[in-house]
Amino acid sequence: MPDLTPPVFRFAPSPNGHLHLGHAYSALFNQQMCREYDGEFLLRIEDIDRTRCTPELEEEMLEDLRWLGISWQGEPRRQSDHFEDYASALETLREAGLVYPSFMTRGEVKRAISDLRDKGECWPTDPDGSPLYPGDERGWSVDAQQRELQANPKHIWRLNMKAALDHVAGDIAWVETGSGSDGETGDCLADPSAWGDVVLARADTPTSYHLSVVLDDAAQGISHVVRGCDLFHATAVHRVLQILLGLPAPIYHHHDLILREDGRKLSKSAQDTSLRSLRQSGMTPDDIKRMVGFSARFV
Ligand code: GLU
Repeated sequence: MPDLTPPVFRFAPSPNGHLHLGHAYSALFNQQMCREYDGEFLLRIEDIDRTRCTPELEEEMLEDLRWLGISWQGEPRRQSDHFEDYASALETLREAGLVYPSFMTRGEVKRAISDLRDKGECWPTDPDGSPLYPGDERGWSVDAQQRELQANPKHIWRLNMKAALDHVAGDIAWVETGSGSDGETGDCLADPSAWGDVVLARADTPTSYHLSVVLDDAAQGISHVVRGCDLFHATAVHRVLQILLGLPAPIYHHHDLILREDGRKLSKSAQDTSLRSLRQSGMTPDDIKRMVGFSARFV
């Protein structure tokens, strides 16, 4: 029997600033691929950061996307409406003994790493260049964790990566139809241990990017995740969480990024490439499409 379910794609921006040319490229690329596959296109608002994401920015983001010619089916899914679901997935992992609370502040982490490096230790960094967490709470007894949780409300829940990988037992892979920054494509073997004990939730936010993205991709029935290649390596973490939580694995397609002239990534704080300011300076959606390398006629 042929599988008649249409492929489902999503664009998942965060309303923590204004969309720039890189988002325009990603949204257009995603929409084009979705049309080629005769799929459904969904929108997700990734607004778990309650201090930086605002309703005004969300409204402006949706308006910029509509102006550009991006259209999606149904109501967008807003992550901040689903904190309870993330908390319950975290509880599942906690019950399985795969997460632990960590208590070191950013300053303490920085000092610990610089002490280790002063002693000549070559402390590893994750694929984004951040040092792995140096704390030792993963080995604490449940009593010690409970005592500290009561005394110290500012804690972070981390995945115990070693325990998680022991639990999964076996290779973790995904199907990549785009490519990573080193040209990795096809069946990609994941290396989640390179990320160490990733953050899954904070005392004030019951989730993190990694945890919510896998739960939402599953909840929205996403079959094809199309996003920038800066998230290629993070897919390793997503695959571990999908396996631990019994979620399906989408196909991934990582695309090139639109970079600044000096080769650095575009940022939401740089006004010159924001869709808003380009629009205010008189540019049309077709101008934006041409600027990011699409023919103006294609959408
Ligand atoms: N919210 C992320 C961003 O704006 C995208 C995450 C994803 O596509 O998985 O960069």
